Amino acid sequence: MALIVQKFGGTSVADAAKIQRAARRAIRAKMDGKQVVMVVSAMGKTTDTLIALAREIAPHPPKREMDMLLTTGEQVSIALMAMAIHASGHQAISLTGGQLGLVTDSVHTQARIQTISQDRITQELVAGRIVIVAGFQGIDESGEITTLGRGASDTTAAALAAVLGAELCEIYTDVDGIYTTDPRIVPQARKLDAISYDEMLEMAAVGAGVMHSRAIEFAKKFNVPIHVRSSLTDQPGTMIMETTPGLEDVAVRGATLKEDLATVVLTRLPNNPGIAAEVFAEVGRHKILVDDIIQNYYDDGRLANIGFSTNQTQVDEALEVCKRMANDRGFGEVEVDENVSKVSVVGVGMRTHTGVAATMFQALAKARINIDSISTSEIVISCIVRREDGPRALQAVHEAFGLDQG
Ligand code: ADP
Ligand code: ASP
Ligand code: MG
Repeated sequence: MALIVQKFGGTSVADAAKIQRAARRAIRAKMDGKQVVMVVSAMGKTTDTLIALAREIAPHPPKREMDMLLTTGEQVSIALMAMAIHASGHQAISLTGGQLGLVTDSVHTQARIQTISQDRITQELVAGRIVIVAGFQGIDESGEITTLGRGASDTTAAALAAVLGAELCEIYTDVDGIYTTDPRIVPQARKLDAISYDEMLEMAAVGAGVMHSRAIEFAKKFNVPIHVRSSLTDQPGTMIMETTPGLEDVAVRGATLKEDLATVVLTRLPNNPGIAAEVFAEVGRHKILVDDIIQNYYDDGRLANIGFSTNQTQVDEALEVCKRMANDRGFGEVEVDENVSKVSVVGVGMRTHTGVAATMFQALAKARINIDSISTSEIVISCIVRREDGPRALQAVHEAFGLDQG
C-alpha cells in the first residue's frame, strides 16, 4: 500500500481549528487508500516561548534540560492531533521520538539521527491507524531525550519518508511553496514549480529558513520527492527533486539572506603550516558550527588573522573557546562582529554559466553596499555584508539575476 508522510509546521497547527484542518487532510489521504504518517511541530511560537522562558531562569541552561523542555512542545501537538482524528471517527496514535525508536547521537540541541526503527510505526499502520510523530526529537542510546536543531521537524519527516519508503513527503507550511527568495523580505519573489535537491540543500544551508537542510540530505540520498505546499489551500506548491536538464537552463535559481550570523576572528597568529588545522580542530572539538572561513595575512605574510562565521546562538561559546586558545598559545585579540549578514545566490546552472560572480558584485556595487568577505562553492556565491545592508543587498541581487521575472 502506498505510504505518504505529511509534515505540519508550527503555524499550520497553531490553534484548534488549524489542528482540525490538518487532521482532515490526513484523513482524506487515508480515505484515498494511503498509509499516512504525520509529523507535527510545536504549536505556533511555542518553541520560541519555551526558549525565552528558559533564558529568564538561566542565561545558559544545560542543553540536556533544554531538550527536555523543548520536546514538550511537540508532545502537546501530537496528542491534540490524535484527539482531532479520533473525534472525526478515525483511528490514530501519537508517538514521541523515543516511543517510535528514533535514535540519535548524544549532542543535545543539535543531535543527528543514527537509526530509526520501523517496527512500531509499521505495526500501527498495519492496524489501520494514522501515525502521528513528534517532529524534531529523538532519544540517544542511553535513553536521554534529544532534539535535532531548530526547524528540524522537516528532517524527522524526510528521514521517516526515507526509511519507510514513502512515495512522497509533503511539507505543509505557511507559504504556498519555495520562492526565489524569502517573500517576507522581497515581495517580488516568485514561486518555483520545481527545484533540485542540490539547489534546495544549498539554499537551506545559506539561510532559506523554509526547509531544514538535513531534510533535503535524506530526501536526496533516498530519492524521496518532497512537495512543499500551503496548509491553507489545495493548490500545488513546489516539488523538490532530482536535477533535470531543464533545471540547468538558468544560472541562478534563488537568493537568500542569513541574518543569525556572527564572525569570530583570531588575530596575530603565526602564519605557519598547520595553524589553521590547529584552530579548527579545537573549534570542532567543541561542536561549534563553522559557516565560512575568513583568512588574511599581513606583516609580509608572517602573521595571519583566521576566523569564521557561525550561528549567533553559538557565538558566546565560540568566543570562549577562541579566547582560551589565544591565551594558551599567545595569539592576539579575538574579534567578534555580530553586525553581519550573508547574502547568497544559488543555482545548479552555475556549473555551466559564467559571469555569475561579476553580476552579483556589480549589483552590490550599484547599491553601494560594501562586501566584507566572499565565499564560493560549485553552485553558491556568498558575500558577508553589514547587517543593516542585508535586505537591500538581497533585493539588489534578486533583481540583478531577473529572479522577479517569470
Ligand atoms: P514551518 O513552521 O511551517 O516549518 P517556517 O517558518 O520554518 O515554517 O518556514 C516558512 C517560512 O520560510 C515562510 O513563511 C517564509 O517567510 C520563509 N522563507 C524563507 N525563504 C523562503 C523561500 N525561498 N521560499 C519560501 N519561503 C521562504
Ligand atoms: N518546534 C521546533 C522549532 O521551532 C521544530 C520545528 O518546528 O521544526 O524549531
Ligand atoms: Mg520550518
